[in-house]
Amino acid sequence: MSWFIRKEKGINTPTEMKREAPDGLWYQCPNCKKITATREHKLNAYTCPHCNYHEKVGSDVYFELLFDENKYTELDADLTSGDPLHFVDTKAYPDRIKATQLKTGLKDAVRTGHGKMNDVKVVIACMDFNFIGGSMGSVVGEKIARAINYSIKHKQPFLMISKSGGARMMEAGFSLMQMAKTSARLALLSEAKIPYISLLTDPTTGGVTASYAMLGDFNISEPEALIGFAGPRVIRETIGKDLPKGFQSAEFVLEHGFLDFIVDRKDLKDKLSSLLTMLK
Ligand SMILES: [Zn+2]
Repeated sequence: MSWFIRKEKGINTPTEMKREAPDGLWYQCPNCKKITATREHKLNAYTCPHCNYHEKVGSDVYFELLFDENKYTELDADLTSGDPLHFVDTKAYPDRIKATQLKTGLKDAVRTGHGKMNDVKVVIACMDFNFIGGSMGSVVGEKIARAINYSIKHKQPFLMISKSGGARMMEAGFSLMQMAKTSARLALLSEAKIPYISLLTDPTTGGVTASYAMLGDFNISEPEALIGFAGPRVIRETIGKDLPKGFQSAEFVLEHGFLDFIVDRKDLKDKLSSLLTMLK
């Protein structure tokens, strides 16, 4: 049966002859593995129509989703990081920053802006996980602090969208100081009686959870987001016990009283704007 035997050797198809679907037409859900057209996935706010898995998205998507007609004024768009510690790991820190800026088109791991959300004026700060794991360095802290200042000055509610691996190792102590700085600024926001909503998305961990992400008048989350301080392995080894099922999921954290509610990304804009209208 020579049908099933390749008689001629060295049959190679050049790449340009291969007829494959162009990239970006389909999205495969990493959770349920089902396929969705990219367009439909986008219309669905980047959530899976089969299992509701919330794909990790960046500040550009959240801004488009939340600001009316994607119109907003970005604050401190050009703030970039220094290298206070002359930190070198596999790369020098300034080289890592430059490479990441080129790769992502972002200046650092947070973008801040103000605009309208269903006609409600709002200031939004949104983290980008693509930028060195959404790590919080001095630029992240400073931009958030300045966005809070803007909120106070213009009496507009503040929405923080967190997505972070924690403090930025390459700025060590300077990163940790951002926890105090942002928390102090949020205290001023609270004194001015301006609402602060903190949305935790997958993942929100480390120093971000331990500071501004958990200080909202409302702490809310997307479904099944990982929320924690230290990773589960470290905790397991420290307490010497197995961890309960679903530990550090948004649902678990909600059940234990650390969150006010979980919101589907498709309902995010309407829920947030009606919440802010109620608080007026
Ligand atoms: Zn799915």
